[in-house]
Amino acid sequence: MKIASQENSAVAMVKAALERAEKYQPEYHIFNWINEQALDQAQEIDRRIASGEPVGRLAGVPYAIKDNFLAPLGETTASAHILEGFTSPVTATAVQKLEAEGAVLIGRTNLDAFAHGSSTENSYFGPTKNSKDLSRVAGGSSGGSAVAVALDIVQFATGTDTGGSIRQPASFNGVYGLKPTYGAISRYGVVAMASSTDCVGFFTGNPDDLDLLMEITAGQDAKDLTSLPDFYAQSQAKPVKKVGIIKDFDNESIDAEIRAALKAKVEQLRVSDVEIVELEMPALKHALAAYYIIVPAEIASNLSRHDGIRYGFRSESSSHLQDLYCNTRGEGFMSENKRRIMIGNFVLSSGFYDAYYLKAAKARTVIINEYAKAFEKCDLILTPVSPNPAFELGSKVNDPVAMYLEDVFSVPLNLAGLPGLTVPAGQTKQGLDIGLQLVGPRRSDRTLINFAKEMEEK
Ligand code: GLN
Repeated sequence: MKIASQENSAVAMVKAALERAEKYQPEYHIFNWINEQALDQAQEIDRRIASGEPVGRLAGVPYAIKDNFLAPLGETTASAHILEGFTSPVTATAVQKLEAEGAVLIGRTNLDAFAHGSSTENSYFGPTKNSKDLSRVAGGSSGGSAVAVALDIVQFATGTDTGGSIRQPASFNGVYGLKPTYGAISRYGVVAMASSTDCVGFFTGNPDDLDLLMEITAGQDAKDLTSLPDFYAQSQAKPVKKVGIIKDFDNESIDAEIRAALKAKVEQLRVSDVEIVELEMPALKHALAAYYIIVPAEIASNLSRHDGIRYGFRSESSSHLQDLYCNTRGEGFMSENKRRIMIGNFVLSSGFYDAYYLKAAKARTVIINEYAKAFEKCDLILTPVSPNPAFELGSKVNDPVAMYLEDVFSVPLNLAGLPGLTVPAGQTKQGLDIGLQLVGPRRSDRTLINFAKEMEEK
């Protein structure tokens, strides 16, 4: 069902969403919190409709937020022990805009703690399971949001994408996932991971819903100085005549069924008169290394605010202030959080800054320029989202490098601030979802969404 064409009463929609949430929660572990007040809100919306009062464009539409969006609705934990017990006094701008249009929050979804990960297994509360196979990961870090939409619990869910956290779980669960142009939607009130690549975006069942959600949430916000003036409202979808495929990405390390899905899509585009342009983008192979230097550097800085004094959990075992900090951070962060804090502080430290951080920052510029050149030759680029479909729970969680390699196709565009959209592209023989990724120049979000609609119709 498309958001814009709702026919049911708010109460009926919200009741159905809550029932499905309760039904799936024990097995899939999608939510960190379910909103018991949702029905009251739906009743109020139905009352307004009955009495002819105006309601918003999302009146009564059930939705979920990734549990790293601040709002005084339940605790905001970011799936981290260190934030347990923290109820935010402020509301994220994106959430505020959705609530103002009458959307009804069903719950807060599970993630890798502080969004560090690609499987949702780094959650303090345990992993979310894949919507097609309970023995496999949901993807991450926004795993709960992807599964909430895939299992039809809610019609849309928010996510954050710093290096693929919307696109990869969307592809692992057969739904649409949009990471907009950097700055399109305000980051105010979102738990910061890496401020120079963090983006707010959405999971939906179809591209039309993404369009409406962008209309509602995009725009400049005085509370986020990196937010852009609302280009979305002013932009028009451009016709897509040339689609680029990256030669450097066509290799044996990609799962055969994903390569086949990409080939099939390319053939489908060819017969519908889209020209396919082969691109050489050799700098992209450095993106993953650059990302895993720049992002931890920003993480180390952003996570320094968690000291046991200001928010959430505090270790009670200490009498000395220094111990309080150390014990709180030691007990409150997951190992992956600590790994990134250590890498981040290392690459920023004097003596290593030039060798690592500065080099990565230069590589980032080369990557940005390489994309700019590529978009002189084509309108959009089509790539895999990840090298493999959803993997077995437990198979990579103790091997950080294997987990980081999951992000090889998703992180390059975060470094360049480009929009990316996961579109479902069939299933493996085993019934696992495959997604492909559309990438466009900055501010081409509407063109991406529109092209996804055209692909759906072909
Ligand atoms: N998997 C990537 C990482 O671990 C991306 C995470 C994200 O986008 N939040 O950094």
